[in-house]
Amino acid sequence: MSHRFYVDSPITDKLATLAGTEAHHLLHVLRARAGEEVTLFDGNGAEFRAVVRELNRQTAQLEVVERLEIDRELPFALSLAVALPKGDRQKLLVEKLTELGVGRLVPLRSERSVAQPKGSALDRLRRSVIEASKQCRRNRLMEIAEPISFHDFLEKPAAATARWIAHPAGETETHSFGQAHGELAILVGPEGGFSDAEVAAAREADWCCIDLGPRILRIETAAIALAALAATSARP
Ligand code: SAH
Repeated sequence: MSHRFYVDSPITDKLATLAGTEAHHLLHVLRARAGEEVTLFDGNGAEFRAVVRELNRQTAQLEVVERLEIDRELPFALSLAVALPKGDRQKLLVEKLTELGVGRLVPLRSERSVAQPKGSALDRLRRSVIEASKQCRRNRLMEIAEPISFHDFLEKPAAATARWIAHPAGETETHSFGQAHGELAILVGPEGGFSDAEVAAAREADWCCIDLGPRILRIETAAIALAALAATSARP
């Protein structure tokens, strides 16, 4: 299996250029030579066999030799809105959700949430998505959306979308997730949990409460467990 590199513009012709972090990885970490074969992806779903042609100090030119339509996505759209934890736990969450095939991660502002990332902090998380996609061979990037308020996210899903809200309330409403659903949206709360008013509003808007057991999980544990549950239970 050849090394994978991300190209940040759509690969449409026979030549591709690596710059920035990706070029650094190829030139100075792998010390690639002209003629070596690597795999490229542009985040839009396909991957490409390519051969290194020209090496400069900070960029590399590659010749694209084959486009491969390799789909490693889930068979349904999965969005998670999460009141993101801080620091390294945020990065871990982004890495694992990328590996599990989540389509979209939305930082969630709720009554008890801490400040959600914006600007360069979001860019750093998007870089983590690329790193994880290089490693797990995903060809489509998980989207990291701008932060959204709890009430805006509640109303967002289209009518057909299955809706789960994670809440350690000691009761789980029946949730079945079969092939019928094309989309699933999941809400995970902050360390302080969702407020009673938030849970009531979610129920009102047809969100189904999911209890993951009698232990209180960290935000990232709950989000990763739910993504794994959804990803595997939706298998035919
Ligand atoms: N302080 C809150 C727990 C917050 S844990 C309390 O004591 O109730 C952070 C988030 O992770 C929760 O809002 C919920 O979305 C999710 N979570 C944690 N443990 C869970 C469990 N056992 N079941 C369902 N969701 C859980």
